[in-house]
Amino acid sequence: MPLLDVRDVTVRFAGLTALDGVGFAVAPGTVHAVIGPNGAGKSTFFNVLSGVYKATSGSVRLDGAELTALPPHRVAALGVARTFQNIALSRHLPVVDNLMLGRHRLTRAGFVSSGLRLPHARREWARHLDRVTEIAGFVGLGDRLGTPVGLLPYGVQKRVELARALCMEPRLLLLDEPVAGMNGGERLDMAELIVAVRESLGISVLLVEHDMGMVMRLADRVTVLDFGRRIADGTPEEVQRDPHVVRAYLGT
Ligand code: ADP
Ligand code: MG
Repeated sequence: MPLLDVRDVTVRFAGLTALDGVGFAVAPGTVHAVIGPNGAGKSTFFNVLSGVYKATSGSVRLDGAELTALPPHRVAALGVARTFQNIALSRHLPVVDNLMLGRHRLTRAGFVSSGLRLPHARREWARHLDRVTEIAGFVGLGDRLGTPVGLLPYGVQKRVELARALCMEPRLLLLDEPVAGMNGGERLDMAELIVAVRESLGISVLLVEHDMGMVMRLADRVTVLDFGRRIADGTPEEVQRDPHVVRAYLGT
């Protein structure tokens, strides 16, 4: 059974069909890329998956559980975490606080809102802090926990975003253009980290990415969108030589 099963998803905005009957499946333990020219519907698709937009029709299931039409916090609770195309972190807060906020949905009472007055809340906070520290170490942020996010280089901030998503203990991680704006070295580091997420943590990754080299290197499978439609789906090699894909990218 696929981990993620997307069937016939259509999204219409006033007068515009952003996604038109898109379907595909993400197998467990894989990196799956969604690619396509600007305006193809990639970000819209992520917004549907994470509950930010409601699909006009179609269905999305995670391991058999219906995600369609659930609000974002419910989708997250079922195990889908995401990062954004533009960084969405609290710049003035240190890394550790940003990660603890990412952890918030896992807490029973919510240690952030209840404060630390009660002993059980303090114990719970300590337990979460241990796990957050472990995840920070995994993504190479072990020595940056106290640094305000806004003071970190851009490539490192993107790592914080990834770490924050991991703090939700997802089964599926959605990454929207994780290497956009990065230099060559930062790109390679991020690629290595994405591989580690799959290999060491066993988390499946669904990736929207412009950098074709990155997609071809990382993805087990690729779905190509153009003008809201799925125009190809297959291994990176298959997709790369598909004439529809070549045409979409060359614009002829
Ligand atoms: P991509 O991420 O592949 O570049 P998007 O998903 O951002 O593409 O956009 C797909 C299409 O949907 C575009 O034509 C875009 O203008 C439109 N679109 C995206 N979000 C909205 C919205 N909230 N309201 C109206 N149109 C939107
Ligand atoms: Mg986009």
